[in-house]
Amino acid sequence: EVKHAIVIVGGGAAGITVAAELKRHDPGLDIAIVEPSELHWYQPGWTLVGAGVFSRKQTERREEKLIPKGVTWIRAAVASFDPDENAVRLSDGRQVRYDFLIACPGLKIDWDAIEGLTDALGRNGVCSNYRPDTAEYTWQLIKSFRGGTALFTQPAMPIKCAGAPQKIMYLMADHLRRNRELSAASLEFNLAGEALFGVPFFVPPLQKAVDGYGIKVAYKHNLKAIDGSTKTALFSVTGADGKVSEVEKRFDMIHVVPPQTGLDVVRASPLANAAGWIEVDPANLRHVRYPNIFALGDAASTTNAKTAAAVRIQAPIVVANLLAAMKGEPLTRAYDGYGSCPLTVAYGKIVLAEFAYGGKVTPSFPLDPRVPRRSMWLLKTKLLPWLYWSHMFKGGEFDIPHRARGW
Ligand code: FAD
Repeated sequence: EVKHAIVIVGGGAAGITVAAELKRHDPGLDIAIVEPSELHWYQPGWTLVGAGVFSRKQTERREEKLIPKGVTWIRAAVASFDPDENAVRLSDGRQVRYDFLIACPGLKIDWDAIEGLTDALGRNGVCSNYRPDTAEYTWQLIKSFRGGTALFTQPAMPIKCAGAPQKIMYLMADHLRRNRELSAASLEFNLAGEALFGVPFFVPPLQKAVDGYGIKVAYKHNLKAIDGSTKTALFSVTGADGKVSEVEKRFDMIHVVPPQTGLDVVRASPLANAAGWIEVDPANLRHVRYPNIFALGDAASTTNAKTAAAVRIQAPIVVANLLAAMKGEPLTRAYDGYGSCPLTVAYGKIVLAEFAYGGKVTPSFPLDPRVPRRSMWLLKTKLLPWLYWSHMFKGGEFDIPHRARGW
Protein backbone atom coordinates (compact mmCIF):
# COMPACT_ATOMS: atom_id res chain seq x y z
CA GLU A 1 0.00 0.00 0.00
CA VAL A 2 1.22 3.48 -0.93
CA LYS A 3 0.25 6.66 0.89
CA HIS A 4 0.92 10.35 0.18
CA ALA A 5 -0.24 13.47 1.98
CA ILE A 6 -1.54 14.94 -1.28
CA VAL A 7 -2.50 12.86 -4.31
CA ILE A 8 -3.22 14.63 -7.61
CA VAL A 9 -5.17 12.61 -10.18
CA GLY A 10 -4.26 13.74 -13.72
CA GLY A 11 -0.97 15.36 -14.71
CA GLY A 12 -2.46 17.64 -17.36
CA ALA A 13 -2.72 21.42 -17.41
CA ALA A 14 -4.35 21.47 -13.97
CA GLY A 15 -2.35 18.71 -12.25
CA ILE A 16 1.08 20.05 -13.22
CA THR A 17 0.15 23.64 -12.33
CA VAL A 18 -1.24 22.72 -8.92
CA ALA A 19 1.76 20.48 -8.11
CA ALA A 20 4.22 23.22 -9.11
CA GLU A 21 2.41 25.82 -7.02
CA LEU A 22 2.26 23.55 -3.97
CA LYS A 23 5.99 22.79 -4.25
CA ARG A 24 6.76 26.45 -4.71
CA HIS A 25 4.87 27.21 -1.55
CA ASP A 26 6.42 24.37 0.46
CA PRO A 27 9.11 22.16 -1.11
CA GLY A 28 8.72 19.71 1.76
CA LEU A 29 5.14 18.67 0.89
CA ASP A 30 4.63 14.96 0.12
CA ILE A 31 2.84 14.97 -3.25
CA ALA A 32 2.16 12.28 -5.86
CA ILE A 33 0.65 12.69 -9.34
CA VAL A 34 -1.21 9.75 -10.86
CA GLU A 35 -0.89 10.09 -14.65
CA PRO A 36 -0.78 7.28 -17.22
CA SER A 37 0.44 9.25 -20.24
CA GLU A 38 4.14 9.61 -21.18
CA LEU A 39 3.30 12.76 -23.15
CA HIS A 40 1.51 16.00 -22.38
CA TRP A 41 0.02 18.27 -25.02
CA TYR A 42 -0.62 21.98 -25.07
CA GLN A 43 -4.11 21.51 -26.47
CA PRO A 44 -4.81 25.22 -27.16
CA GLY A 45 -2.06 24.88 -29.80
CA TRP A 46 -4.01 22.26 -31.76
CA THR A 47 -6.16 24.88 -33.49
CA LEU A 48 -2.89 26.35 -34.77
CA VAL A 49 -1.65 22.88 -35.81
CA GLY A 50 -4.84 22.47 -37.82
CA ALA A 51 -4.18 25.84 -39.44
CA GLY A 52 -0.54 25.11 -40.29
CA VAL A 53 0.82 27.74 -37.88
CA PHE A 54 2.29 25.36 -35.26
CA SER A 55 3.83 21.94 -35.78
CA ARG A 56 2.45 19.08 -33.71
CA LYS A 57 5.85 18.77 -32.01
CA GLN A 58 5.54 22.34 -30.70
CA THR A 59 2.49 21.27 -28.67
CA GLU A 60 4.08 18.16 -27.18
CA ARG A 61 6.34 17.60 -24.14
CA ARG A 62 7.46 14.53 -22.23
CA GLU A 63 5.51 14.25 -18.99
CA GLU A 64 8.68 13.43 -17.02
CA LYS A 65 10.12 16.85 -17.90
CA LEU A 66 7.01 18.56 -16.54
CA ILE A 67 6.46 16.81 -13.20
CA PRO A 68 7.94 19.23 -10.65
CA LYS A 69 11.06 18.18 -8.75
CA GLY A 70 10.32 16.23 -5.61
CA VAL A 71 6.85 15.13 -6.76
CA THR A 72 6.31 11.37 -7.10
CA TRP A 73 4.98 10.31 -10.49
CA ILE A 74 2.75 7.22 -10.33
CA ARG A 75 2.60 6.04 -13.94
CA ALA A 76 -0.88 4.50 -13.98
CA ALA A 77 -4.49 5.49 -14.45
CA VAL A 78 -6.97 5.69 -11.61
CA ALA A 79 -9.49 2.90 -12.13
CA SER A 80 -11.80 3.84 -9.25
CA PHE A 81 -12.22 6.47 -6.56
CA ASP A 82 -12.97 5.37 -3.00
CA PRO A 83 -13.38 8.67 -1.14
CA ASP A 84 -14.90 7.03 1.93
CA GLU A 85 -11.59 5.17 2.42
CA ASN A 86 -9.43 8.16 1.33
CA ALA A 87 -8.02 6.00 -1.45
CA VAL A 88 -7.90 5.51 -5.20
CA ARG A 89 -7.48 2.16 -6.96
CA LEU A 90 -5.07 2.09 -9.92
CA SER A 91 -5.43 0.28 -13.23
CA ASP A 92 -2.70 -2.14 -12.13
CA GLY A 93 -4.66 -3.03 -8.99
CA ARG A 94 -2.55 -1.04 -6.51
CA GLN A 95 -4.23 1.19 -3.98
CA VAL A 96 -2.99 4.70 -3.19
CA ARG A 97 -4.13 6.38 0.00
CA TYR A 98 -4.13 10.11 0.71
CA ASP A 99 -4.95 12.76 3.27
CA PHE A 100 -6.03 15.22 0.55
CA LEU A 101 -7.01 14.54 -3.05
CA ILE A 102 -6.97 16.92 -6.01
CA ALA A 103 -8.98 15.45 -8.88
CA CYS A 104 -8.24 16.86 -12.33
CA PRO A 105 -8.30 13.98 -14.85
CA GLY A 106 -9.88 16.03 -17.67
CA LEU A 107 -12.88 14.89 -19.69
CA LYS A 108 -13.84 12.22 -22.20
CA ILE A 109 -14.06 13.10 -25.88
CA ASP A 110 -16.69 10.62 -26.98
CA TRP A 111 -15.48 9.64 -30.49
CA ASP A 112 -17.66 6.51 -30.41
CA ALA A 113 -20.84 8.55 -29.92
CA ILE A 114 -20.75 9.32 -33.65
CA GLU A 115 -21.36 6.20 -35.66
CA GLY A 116 -18.58 5.47 -38.15
CA LEU A 117 -16.32 8.27 -36.93
CA THR A 118 -13.51 6.11 -35.54
CA ASP A 119 -13.19 4.29 -38.88
CA ALA A 120 -13.37 7.39 -41.04
CA LEU A 121 -11.21 9.76 -38.96
CA GLY A 122 -7.81 10.74 -40.31
CA ARG A 123 -8.67 9.82 -43.90
CA ASN A 124 -11.57 10.26 -46.34
CA GLY A 125 -11.50 13.99 -45.71
CA VAL A 126 -12.52 13.54 -42.06
CA CYS A 127 -10.43 15.55 -39.57
CA SER A 128 -10.58 16.91 -36.01
CA ASN A 129 -8.42 19.37 -34.10
CA TYR A 130 -9.36 17.54 -30.88
CA ARG A 131 -6.50 15.03 -31.40
CA PRO A 132 -2.93 15.96 -32.35
CA ASP A 133 -2.56 13.52 -35.27
CA THR A 134 -5.90 14.41 -36.79
CA ALA A 135 -5.18 18.13 -36.27
CA GLU A 136 -2.18 17.65 -38.58
CA TYR A 137 -4.56 16.04 -41.05
CA THR A 138 -6.83 19.12 -40.83
CA TRP A 139 -4.00 21.24 -42.24
CA GLN A 140 -3.28 18.71 -44.99
CA LEU A 141 -6.91 18.90 -46.06
CA ILE A 142 -7.04 22.70 -45.92
CA LYS A 143 -3.82 23.00 -47.93
CA SER A 144 -5.01 20.64 -50.64
CA PHE A 145 -8.64 21.84 -50.77
CA ARG A 146 -9.56 22.87 -54.32
CA GLY A 147 -13.24 23.69 -54.06
CA GLY A 148 -16.27 21.74 -52.91
CA THR A 149 -18.10 21.43 -49.61
CA ALA A 150 -16.43 21.73 -46.21
CA LEU A 151 -18.58 20.96 -43.17
CA PHE A 152 -17.76 21.93 -39.58
CA THR A 153 -19.61 20.40 -36.63
CA GLN A 154 -20.20 21.38 -33.01
CA PRO A 155 -21.96 19.12 -30.48
CA ALA A 156 -24.10 20.10 -27.50
CA MET A 157 -22.30 21.93 -24.69
CA PRO A 158 -20.27 21.63 -22.54
CA ILE A 159 -17.13 20.97 -24.56
CA LYS A 160 -13.59 22.12 -23.95
CA CYS A 161 -12.82 25.39 -25.64
CA ALA A 162 -16.32 26.07 -26.96
CA GLY A 163 -14.90 28.29 -29.70
CA ALA A 164 -12.57 25.69 -31.22
CA PRO A 165 -15.14 24.15 -33.62
CA GLN A 166 -15.54 27.51 -35.40
CA LYS A 167 -12.00 28.90 -35.03
CA ILE A 168 -10.65 26.50 -37.62
CA MET A 169 -13.55 27.29 -39.96
CA TYR A 170 -12.62 30.99 -40.07
CA LEU A 171 -8.95 30.17 -40.55
CA MET A 172 -9.76 27.88 -43.46
CA ALA A 173 -12.05 30.48 -45.02
CA ASP A 174 -9.32 33.12 -44.68
CA HIS A 175 -6.74 30.77 -46.19
CA LEU A 176 -9.02 30.12 -49.18
CA ARG A 177 -9.74 33.80 -49.59
CA ARG A 178 -6.04 34.66 -49.65
CA ASN A 179 -5.59 32.01 -52.38
CA ARG A 180 -8.64 33.30 -54.29
CA GLU A 181 -10.37 29.95 -53.78
CA LEU A 182 -13.15 30.95 -51.41
CA SER A 183 -15.75 31.45 -54.15
CA ALA A 184 -15.33 27.83 -55.31
CA ALA A 185 -15.94 26.56 -51.78
CA SER A 186 -19.09 26.02 -49.80
CA LEU A 187 -18.40 26.23 -46.05
CA GLU A 188 -21.10 25.23 -43.62
CA PHE A 189 -21.24 25.31 -39.79
CA ASN A 190 -23.53 22.62 -38.35
CA LEU A 191 -24.09 23.13 -34.66
CA ALA A 192 -26.33 21.43 -32.12
CA GLY A 193 -27.07 24.73 -30.36
CA GLU A 194 -29.09 27.78 -31.31
CA ALA A 195 -26.44 30.52 -31.12
CA LEU A 196 -22.96 31.05 -32.53
CA PHE A 197 -21.56 31.54 -29.02
CA GLY A 198 -22.87 31.02 -25.48
CA VAL A 199 -22.11 34.60 -24.40
CA PRO A 200 -24.36 36.92 -26.51
CA PHE A 201 -21.89 39.83 -26.17
CA PHE A 202 -19.45 38.01 -28.48
CA VAL A 203 -21.95 36.92 -31.14
CA PRO A 204 -21.82 40.09 -33.34
CA PRO A 205 -18.11 39.81 -34.32
CA LEU A 206 -18.62 36.09 -35.06
CA GLN A 207 -21.73 36.80 -37.13
CA LYS A 208 -19.69 39.37 -39.03
CA ALA A 209 -17.01 36.76 -39.76
CA VAL A 210 -19.64 34.23 -40.88
CA ASP A 211 -21.27 36.80 -43.19
CA GLY A 212 -17.96 38.12 -44.50
CA TYR A 213 -16.78 34.68 -45.57
CA GLY A 214 -20.21 33.62 -46.84
CA ILE A 215 -20.42 30.67 -44.44
CA LYS A 216 -23.79 28.92 -44.13
CA VAL A 217 -24.93 28.21 -40.56
CA ALA A 218 -27.24 25.30 -39.74
CA TYR A 219 -28.47 25.54 -36.12
CA LYS A 220 -29.88 22.56 -34.21
CA HIS A 221 -27.96 20.18 -36.44
CA ASN A 222 -26.33 17.42 -34.41
CA LEU A 223 -23.91 15.03 -36.13
CA LYS A 224 -24.98 11.42 -35.60
CA ALA A 225 -23.10 9.31 -38.15
CA ILE A 226 -20.42 9.60 -40.75
CA ASP A 227 -19.56 7.43 -43.75
CA GLY A 228 -16.05 7.98 -45.02
CA SER A 229 -16.42 5.88 -48.17
CA THR A 230 -19.41 7.82 -49.51
CA LYS A 231 -18.31 11.08 -47.83
CA THR A 232 -21.68 11.66 -46.23
CA ALA A 233 -22.64 12.90 -42.78
CA LEU A 234 -25.96 12.28 -41.07
CA PHE A 235 -27.40 14.98 -38.81
CA SER A 236 -30.39 14.90 -36.52
CA VAL A 237 -32.23 18.17 -36.86
CA THR A 238 -34.67 19.68 -34.39
CA GLY A 239 -37.28 21.74 -36.22
CA ALA A 240 -39.04 24.87 -34.97
CA ASP A 241 -41.99 22.67 -33.96
CA GLY A 242 -39.67 20.51 -31.82
CA LYS A 243 -39.92 17.57 -34.23
CA VAL A 244 -36.68 15.70 -34.89
CA SER A 245 -35.79 14.64 -38.42
CA GLU A 246 -32.65 13.44 -40.16
CA VAL A 247 -30.70 15.09 -42.89
CA GLU A 248 -27.80 13.71 -44.91
CA LYS A 249 -25.08 15.99 -46.27
CA ARG A 250 -22.26 15.23 -48.70
CA PHE A 251 -18.83 16.67 -47.99
CA ASP A 252 -15.41 16.92 -49.54
CA MET A 253 -14.00 17.68 -46.11
CA ILE A 254 -15.49 17.64 -42.62
CA HIS A 255 -14.03 18.93 -39.33
CA VAL A 256 -15.67 16.99 -36.50
CA VAL A 257 -15.95 17.86 -32.81
CA PRO A 258 -17.47 14.94 -30.87
CA PRO A 259 -19.66 15.27 -27.77
CA GLN A 260 -17.80 15.44 -24.45
CA THR A 261 -18.69 14.02 -21.04
CA GLY A 262 -17.14 13.26 -17.69
CA LEU A 263 -14.69 10.33 -17.76
CA ASP A 264 -16.23 6.89 -17.15
CA VAL A 265 -14.12 6.50 -13.97
CA VAL A 266 -15.54 9.76 -12.65
CA ARG A 267 -19.13 9.04 -13.69
CA ALA A 268 -19.00 5.70 -11.88
CA SER A 269 -17.64 7.27 -8.68
CA PRO A 270 -19.27 8.96 -5.66
CA LEU A 271 -17.45 12.15 -6.71
CA ALA A 272 -19.77 12.79 -9.67
CA ASN A 273 -22.94 14.84 -9.86
CA ALA A 274 -25.90 13.57 -11.91
CA ALA A 275 -24.36 14.97 -15.11
CA GLY A 276 -21.07 13.11 -14.54
CA TRP A 277 -18.78 15.97 -13.45
CA ILE A 278 -16.86 16.12 -10.15
CA GLU A 279 -19.19 18.03 -7.88
CA VAL A 280 -17.43 20.99 -6.30
CA ASP A 281 -18.52 24.26 -4.77
CA PRO A 282 -18.32 26.73 -7.70
CA ALA A 283 -16.47 29.31 -5.58
CA ASN A 284 -14.02 27.47 -3.31
CA LEU A 285 -13.64 24.40 -5.60
CA ARG A 286 -13.91 21.95 -2.71
CA HIS A 287 -15.99 18.82 -3.15
CA VAL A 288 -19.50 19.29 -1.79
CA ARG A 289 -19.52 15.94 0.04
CA TYR A 290 -15.84 15.21 0.76
CA PRO A 291 -14.05 18.11 2.49
CA ASN A 292 -10.57 16.65 1.79
CA ILE A 293 -11.14 16.61 -1.98
CA PHE A 294 -10.77 19.49 -4.44
CA ALA A 295 -11.28 19.46 -8.21
CA LEU A 296 -10.53 21.80 -11.09
CA GLY A 297 -10.11 21.88 -14.84
CA ASP A 298 -12.25 20.12 -17.42
CA ALA A 299 -13.38 17.40 -14.97
CA ALA A 300 -15.03 19.78 -12.49
CA SER A 301 -18.74 20.60 -12.31
CA THR A 302 -18.13 24.36 -12.46
CA THR A 303 -19.97 26.08 -15.33
CA ASN A 304 -17.02 28.13 -16.59
CA ALA A 305 -15.63 27.74 -20.11
CA LYS A 306 -13.53 24.55 -19.99
CA THR A 307 -10.18 26.10 -20.89
CA ALA A 308 -6.53 26.24 -19.84
CA ALA A 309 -7.22 29.91 -19.10
CA ALA A 310 -9.72 28.81 -16.45
CA VAL A 311 -7.21 26.31 -15.04
CA ARG A 312 -4.66 29.08 -14.67
CA ILE A 313 -7.01 31.07 -12.44
CA GLN A 314 -8.45 28.04 -10.60
CA ALA A 315 -5.11 26.49 -9.63
CA PRO A 316 -3.89 29.12 -7.14
CA ILE A 317 -7.38 29.20 -5.59
CA VAL A 318 -7.38 25.42 -5.12
CA VAL A 319 -3.86 25.55 -3.70
CA ALA A 320 -4.63 28.35 -1.22
CA ASN A 321 -7.86 26.69 -0.10
CA LEU A 322 -6.20 23.27 0.19
CA LEU A 323 -3.41 24.73 2.35
CA ALA A 324 -6.08 26.36 4.53
CA ALA A 325 -8.02 23.08 4.79
CA MET A 326 -4.83 21.25 5.80
CA LYS A 327 -4.48 23.67 8.71
CA GLY A 328 -8.17 23.39 9.57
CA GLU A 329 -8.74 27.03 8.65
CA PRO A 330 -11.69 28.48 6.68
CA LEU A 331 -11.39 28.61 2.88
CA THR A 332 -11.08 32.24 1.85
CA ARG A 333 -10.29 32.22 -1.87
CA ALA A 334 -13.16 32.23 -4.39
CA TYR A 335 -13.21 31.57 -8.13
CA ASP A 336 -15.35 33.92 -10.24
CA GLY A 337 -15.73 31.52 -13.17
CA TYR A 338 -13.15 33.20 -15.39
CA GLY A 339 -12.32 31.51 -18.67
CA SER A 340 -11.22 32.78 -22.02
CA CYS A 341 -11.46 31.78 -25.62
CA PRO A 342 -9.24 33.41 -28.24
CA LEU A 343 -11.47 33.33 -31.34
CA THR A 344 -9.31 33.28 -34.46
CA VAL A 345 -11.53 35.10 -36.95
CA ALA A 346 -8.66 35.31 -39.50
CA TYR A 347 -4.92 34.63 -39.72
CA GLY A 348 -3.38 37.37 -37.57
CA LYS A 349 -6.69 38.46 -36.02
CA ILE A 350 -8.32 37.37 -32.77
CA VAL A 351 -11.39 38.33 -30.77
CA LEU A 352 -10.36 37.53 -27.20
CA ALA A 353 -13.54 36.40 -25.44
CA GLU A 354 -13.03 36.59 -21.68
CA PHE A 355 -15.94 35.97 -19.37
CA ALA A 356 -16.90 34.63 -15.93
CA TYR A 357 -19.88 32.87 -14.36
CA GLY A 358 -23.21 33.94 -15.81
CA GLY A 359 -21.56 35.18 -19.02
CA LYS A 360 -20.19 38.30 -17.27
CA VAL A 361 -17.70 39.92 -19.66
CA THR A 362 -14.33 40.39 -17.89
CA PRO A 363 -11.75 41.88 -20.29
CA SER A 364 -8.10 41.97 -19.16
CA PHE A 365 -7.32 44.95 -21.36
CA PRO A 366 -8.99 48.39 -21.57
CA LEU A 367 -10.05 47.83 -25.19
CA ASP A 368 -13.34 46.79 -26.79
CA PRO A 369 -13.00 42.98 -26.63
CA ARG A 370 -15.33 42.50 -29.60
CA VAL A 371 -12.84 44.01 -32.03
CA PRO A 372 -10.57 41.50 -33.82
CA ARG A 373 -6.96 42.45 -33.03
CA ARG A 374 -3.47 41.57 -34.18
CA SER A 375 -2.18 42.08 -30.61
CA MET A 376 -4.40 39.22 -29.44
CA TRP A 377 -3.01 36.99 -32.21
CA LEU A 378 0.47 37.65 -30.81
CA LEU A 379 -0.87 36.89 -27.35
CA LYS A 380 -2.27 33.54 -28.56
CA THR A 381 0.69 32.45 -30.68
CA LYS A 382 3.58 33.77 -28.55
CA LEU A 383 2.69 34.94 -25.06
CA LEU A 384 0.14 32.33 -23.98
CA PRO A 385 2.28 29.26 -24.88
CA TRP A 386 5.18 30.85 -22.98
CA LEU A 387 2.90 31.62 -20.05
CA TYR A 388 1.75 27.98 -20.00
CA TRP A 389 5.13 26.23 -20.16
CA SER A 390 7.33 28.72 -18.34
CA HIS A 391 5.06 30.40 -15.84
CA MET A 392 1.97 28.27 -15.06
CA PHE A 393 3.87 24.99 -15.08
CA LYS A 394 6.54 26.50 -12.82
CA GLY A 395 3.93 27.53 -10.26
CA GLY A 396 4.49 31.23 -10.91
CA GLU A 397 0.85 32.20 -10.64
CA PHE A 398 0.81 31.40 -6.94
CA ASP A 399 3.15 34.32 -6.31
CA ILE A 400 0.59 36.80 -7.62
CA PRO A 401 -1.53 37.48 -4.56
CA HIS A 402 -5.30 37.33 -4.82
CA ARG A 403 -5.41 37.63 -8.54
CA ALA A 404 -9.05 37.48 -9.58
CA ARG A 405 -8.59 36.77 -13.25
CA GLY A 406 -6.22 37.01 -16.19
CA TRP A 407 -5.81 35.45 -19.59
P1 FAD B 1 -6.03 17.91 -19.43
O1 FAD B 1 -5.00 18.95 -19.72
O2 FAD B 1 -6.74 17.28 -20.57
O3 FAD B 1 -5.34 16.82 -18.52
C1 FAD B 1 -6.00 15.68 -18.00
C2 FAD B 1 -4.95 14.65 -17.64
O4 FAD B 1 -5.55 13.59 -16.91
C3 FAD B 1 -4.31 14.02 -18.87
O5 FAD B 1 -2.91 14.13 -18.79
C4 FAD B 1 -4.80 12.58 -18.84
O6 FAD B 1 -3.84 11.67 -19.37
C5 FAD B 1 -5.02 12.36 -17.36
N1 FAD B 1 -5.97 11.29 -17.06
C6 FAD B 1 -7.04 10.89 -17.79
N2 FAD B 1 -7.65 9.84 -17.20
C7 FAD B 1 -6.95 9.58 -16.08
C8 FAD B 1 -7.09 8.60 -15.05
N3 FAD B 1 -8.08 7.69 -15.06
N4 FAD B 1 -6.18 8.59 -14.05
C9 FAD B 1 -5.19 9.51 -14.01
N5 FAD B 1 -5.01 10.45 -14.95
C10 FAD B 1 -5.89 10.48 -15.98
N6 FAD B 1 -7.95 26.34 -23.62
C11 FAD B 1 -7.64 27.66 -23.62
O7 FAD B 1 -7.43 28.23 -22.56
N7 FAD B 1 -7.54 28.38 -24.79
C12 FAD B 1 -7.71 27.79 -25.99
O8 FAD B 1 -7.59 28.44 -27.01
C13 FAD B 1 -8.01 26.38 -26.04
N8 FAD B 1 -8.16 25.75 -27.22
C14 FAD B 1 -8.37 24.41 -27.26
C15 FAD B 1 -8.46 23.77 -28.47
C16 FAD B 1 -8.63 22.40 -28.55
C17 FAD B 1 -8.72 21.74 -29.90
C18 FAD B 1 -8.70 21.63 -27.35
C19 FAD B 1 -8.86 20.14 -27.41
C20 FAD B 1 -8.63 22.27 -26.12
C21 FAD B 1 -8.48 23.66 -26.06
N9 FAD B 1 -8.40 24.34 -24.83
C22 FAD B 1 -8.13 25.68 -24.80
C23 FAD B 1 -8.79 23.64 -23.57
C24 FAD B 1 -7.65 23.24 -22.65
O9 FAD B 1 -6.66 22.54 -23.36
C25 FAD B 1 -8.20 22.40 -21.51
O10 FAD B 1 -9.28 23.07 -20.92
C26 FAD B 1 -7.16 22.10 -20.45
O11 FAD B 1 -6.14 21.30 -20.99
C27 FAD B 1 -7.79 21.42 -19.24
O12 FAD B 1 -6.82 20.98 -18.33
P2 FAD B 1 -7.09 19.68 -17.44
O13 FAD B 1 -5.84 19.52 -16.63
O14 FAD B 1 -8.39 19.76 -16.78
O15 FAD B 1 -7.20 18.50 -18.51
